[in-house]
Amino acid sequence: NTEEPWRPFNRSRVYMADLESTLHYSLRVELASQTQIKGEVLIALKKYISVLAKYFPGRPVVMNLLQSINSWLQNQTANEISYVAFKEKLDNSSQAPDTALPEGVRWVGCQGSKPHFRRYPCGVWTLFHVLTVQAKKAGGSDAKEVLSSMRGYIHHFFGCRPCAEHFENMAQESLAEVTTLSTAVLWLWSRHNRVNNRLAGDLSEDPNFPKIQWPSPEICPACHTVKDNGEHRWNHEQVLSFLLSHFSSNNILSDYLE
Ligand code: FAD
Repeated sequence: NTEEPWRPFNRSRVYMADLESTLHYSLRVELASQTQIKGEVLIALKKYISVLAKYFPGRPVVMNLLQSINSWLQNQTANEISYVAFKEKLDNSSQAPDTALPEGVRWVGCQGSKPHFRRYPCGVWTLFHVLTVQAKKAGGSDAKEVLSSMRGYIHHFFGCRPCAEHFENMAQESLAEVTTLSTAVLWLWSRHNRVNNRLAGDLSEDPNFPKIQWPSPEICPACHTVKDNGEHRWNHEQVLSFLLSHFSSNNILSDYLE
């Protein structure tokens, strides 16, 4: 919708409106393209919802919804569910008091200068960066829990098929190297930068949001070092602490929520 008014935002913050918009789009639009969900696809959905119920740093109403969907889904013993049954559960749960996922999208930090730029794919990256950081803070025992659920989600549900293929290649190549919750945070950051590198200057790039090696020296000077020969190096320790603070719940703003 080109008539939507521009929502001013701060590029050094994360917006709950983007995260909730991503959940809405993922659960009500993207999943809806599968009539029957079974086998590996059902396993991927269960893992995705379980990770959301565990780590999404949402408002209480949204957490109530995710937890209610999660317990319903984990209790499904059949090898197959229909999207209609899933959607019914989503809608019925929303009728319970203090349980809801707002309808519709309201992009803020993921707004594009034109309707075909940014939005949902930006939301997906943001969501999974947030989840890897939340998992690190929660200190769980499975280092790959969030990334495996992301891998399954992207592989089976993400509408951009070339994106899914690229991501699956990266996962096959190096996801096994992830052995700690910190390396999981850094793995996703570095793969996202690879994608940025590949897409810089591409037609899909929003001219107002150029694809850079992120975070820029402006927002994280300490993340960057220059060797004697002038070669750029990331300071991984500083990058990790930047990511842990940038994607922490303290840095998430509730502006523009309904
Ligand atoms: P995005 O790249 O979506 O980033 C969103 C926000 O995250 C940025 O604004 C910034 O604040 C932050 N950010 C940027 N870089 C990093 C980083 N390294 N670490 C942490 N945070 C960061 N498009 C294609 O055309 N081809 C593809 O193969 C492709 N593969 C994709 C694979 C996945 C898994 C996903 C989720 C998306 C993929 N896309 C692909 C879409 C593309 O990566 C962008 O999401 C899209 O072009 C919108 O770009 P954007 O400017 O909103 O920034």
